[in-house]
Amino acid sequence: MTYTLPELPYAYDALEPHIDEQTMRIHHTKHHNGYVTKLNKALENHSDFQQYTIEYLLRYIHRAPETIKTSIRNNGGGHANHSLFWQIMSPDGGGEPTGDLAQAIQDQYGSFQDFKETFTDTALTHFGSGWAWLVLDAADNLLVISTPNQDSPFMYGYKPLLGIDMWEHAFYLKHQNDKASYVAAWWNVVNWKEVQRQFTKPALHTR
Ligand code: MN
Repeated sequence: MTYTLPELPYAYDALEPHIDEQTMRIHHTKHHNGYVTKLNKALENHSDFQQYTIEYLLRYIHRAPETIKTSIRNNGGGHANHSLFWQIMSPDGGGEPTGDLAQAIQDQYGSFQDFKETFTDTALTHFGSGWAWLVLDAADNLLVISTPNQDSPFMYGYKPLLGIDMWEHAFYLKHQNDKASYVAAWWNVVNWKEVQRQFTKPALHTR
């Protein structure tokens, strides 16, 4: 079984005006699709590695042969990161989390606004291509981190709940070099119901 490009849970233009249709279309059909295609190519002679969930493949990347490790890191990471990214955005997004996720954010950061500032600052100060994340560590503490390139939080033993793609391909058509404008727009589409679901769901390891 090979990895497949998931469909978007909404239309390409559904996140307008915050994220534009052309960016969403290219991002999904070219960039994400490219990661899936290259990952499958790298694993075509390693059927034992095709049985794992993408989370498991990344969490235990250190067990992979050297010949496919870089491809799992870049293309497997790209596949996992984008699969979550589409889910944690929604045309009905924005606002603030509720329930136990809201409480956990408040306990860790003092307030939602303080969390939002920390996350935004992490995204804007990440140097070069990469991602900013809200993750759970192994002790179930919330952390805001950034990762370079397509490195996945799963590689570091973290469970990603929310992530923003800070590669130029995610914003350049609409926002050019204005990362702050992109991040500000993105908060309007964050799907907190899905982030809450990620917060409470158990880690999946095999398929
Ligand atoms: Mn991307």
